[in-house]
Amino acid sequence: MKILVTGGTGYIGSHTCVELLDAGYEIVVIDNFSNSQPDVLDKIKMITRKDFKFYKGDVCDKEILQMIFKENKIDAVVHFAGFKAVGESVIKPLMYYRNNIDSTLSLLEVMNEYNCKKIVFSSSATVYGKPDKLPIKENFSLKTTNPYGATKLMIEDILRDLYISDNDWSIAILRYFNPIGAHASGLIGENPNDIPNNLMPYIVKVATKELECLNIFGDDYDTLDGTGVRDYIHVVDLSKGHIKAIEKVIKDKGVDAYNLGTGRGYSVLELVNTFMKVNNVKINYKIVGRRPGDIDACYADPSYAKEKLGWSASLGIEQMCKDAYNFIKKIEEM
Ligand code: NAD
Ligand code: UDP
Repeated sequence: MKILVTGGTGYIGSHTCVELLDAGYEIVVIDNFSNSQPDVLDKIKMITRKDFKFYKGDVCDKEILQMIFKENKIDAVVHFAGFKAVGESVIKPLMYYRNNIDSTLSLLEVMNEYNCKKIVFSSSATVYGKPDKLPIKENFSLKTTNPYGATKLMIEDILRDLYISDNDWSIAILRYFNPIGAHASGLIGENPNDIPNNLMPYIVKVATKELECLNIFGDDYDTLDGTGVRDYIHVVDLSKGHIKAIEKVIKDKGVDAYNLGTGRGYSVLELVNTFMKVNNVKINYKIVGRRPGDIDACYADPSYAKEKLGWSASLGIEQMCKDAYNFIKKIEEM
């Protein structure tokens, strides 16, 4: 089986490439390095001791996609390529709509042309907006508050419409909660160049003293300790979910969405304290005002993914904190 992975050198894509290769799939990767580095390709090969084909290019570009499908017999696609920063999407909405929607349309058109109709798509828990109750189930109403989330919702609609028009498609929409952590080898992980927006990359940069102090956005939420609660999931567990989703789309036709989360929420302070404890390192933090648009708590009911895909997360918060720090220390040693 040959799987095309778009955005395969990115954070989640690289971990999924490792899991796909380990599971015995052949892969072909396309990425334009707009948010990743070429050396990730060697790291994936080092971890797995397997080789694969790589195309440097833009998924919006139908010509390169046609070349890939002509040169390789692709059985299914995992589509990660896209921009993902909520704040940036508010400032540059056109860039987000253009890249995320255009790349998906080009990809689906070329897949259709080559009669490859199996796809796993990276959606996000952001499509639930501010949920009325918790834990979040897949049948909750969908709404978003920013252009990034809107692109995810639009793509979900496009995929559902595509299936209605042609029942030969097999489509798995994966709604990720909060992926953190890194591969156990410490060779791949998340290391944004800019000042991080997300909590874990920020904590890590405070731990390494690259940044001075973590700002905790609000301690007056309706949660256990007043800080925001999220469903953090180890990126390796999340990547394994893609293997199960690929098995599903290879086997069954249809379109369906699955929550990939642990089902357990942790507050900002719980995450910070766990990070300090397991890594024996101090994180300076101060409480500041709420970040606009943030919700108090968000965690998944992951039972549908367990029932339909046979997948559930197994790595805990301590492992997530250890692996995130191990990855960054390895980079510093190099
Ligand atoms: P990432 O930025 O690390 O990876 C995305 C990869 O896609 C990058 O390597 C980038 O260079 C590439 N890319 C972007 N646009 C491209 C294009 N037009 N052509 C070719 N390559 C392109 O992000 P990630 O965290 O690995 O996220 C992967 C997917 O999962 C994204 O679609 C993202 O929206 C979604 N997602 C991520 C999170 C998260 O917290 N990380 C949560 C929910 C959903
Ligand atoms: N957060 C924080 N300081 C930061 C970044 C995030 O206190 O520098 C909080 C944020 O308010 C939320 C949680 O950490 O409660 C997770 O935020 P993140 O941006 O990682 O994920 P998202 O909000 O998109 O779920």
